[in-house]
Amino acid sequence: MTFNKRIARGAALVAIAACALVMPVNLASAETISVDVGTKLSDGLPITGNGQNLPSMGLTTGYWFAGPSPAPLVISYYSSGEALKHQSEISVAALKWTRSWVKKECGSTKPAKVRACKAAAVFDVDETLVSNYELFVEADPQFTIPSAVDISAANANCTRPVIAPVRALFKAFTRLGITSFIITGRPEADRVSTTTCLAGLGIAGYGDLIMMPTGNTQNAANRKADQRHALIKKGWKIGPSIGDQISDMANGSMQHGFLLPNLMYYVA
Ligand SMILES: [Mg+2]
Repeated sequence: MTFNKRIARGAALVAIAACALVMPVNLASAETISVDVGTKLSDGLPITGNGQNLPSMGLTTGYWFAGPSPAPLVISYYSSGEALKHQSEISVAALKWTRSWVKKECGSTKPAKVRACKAAAVFDVDETLVSNYELFVEADPQFTIPSAVDISAANANCTRPVIAPVRALFKAFTRLGITSFIITGRPEADRVSTTTCLAGLGIAGYGDLIMMPTGNTQNAANRKADQRHALIKKGWKIGPSIGDQISDMANGSMQHGFLLPNLMYYVA
């Protein structure tokens, strides 16, 4: 590795770690972990995470919210900076893993070669690139089901803040020559607002924004796996899938899942 490359690599890791404010990055808590993915979701693991996610509770479709009992713990987790620390750790682990995957898959870490070999990554949107915590704690502090009015207002006004370490990861991938795709459960009706808000947060230049098609009745795990598979059929090689739900990285068509924390809700 040349000196310049070492500097660039160090700068990317520092940029991601710096997003966790002044807290030290402890890679020990971003580990490859065993996750109960149910009986239908068996292919596409391993997953690197930290265990700060709600269990499936046997849910096979739809979503559920944490509810009022754990609300004080949820608020403490996010307001103390612990969530940001874990988001940073997972992002650092994702960059480290993806660098070696690209080297193996494309035979080089030169951006032009990585682009030519169609190396790709997948990002989710909510609780991955942007946070809904601030919206929920303001409008729905019991973590039940936020109102459609509040969600619409957040969509229209771009009030959701970015999750900075994940944005730094997205940008590091771009510099490496990796094409990132965004696969979200948001409906097609939200395409313009989602694109506009992401652009306002400095998230642009992705391969495509893939949303929930109108009338789709699949659960998120099956739909997102099919959407990744469609990209692979077009010649893309998908390495990492980064999201806050097992359903962002279940059922294969990717090499390694990176599971960000979400103590607020579960999506099957
Ligand atoms: Mg999400």
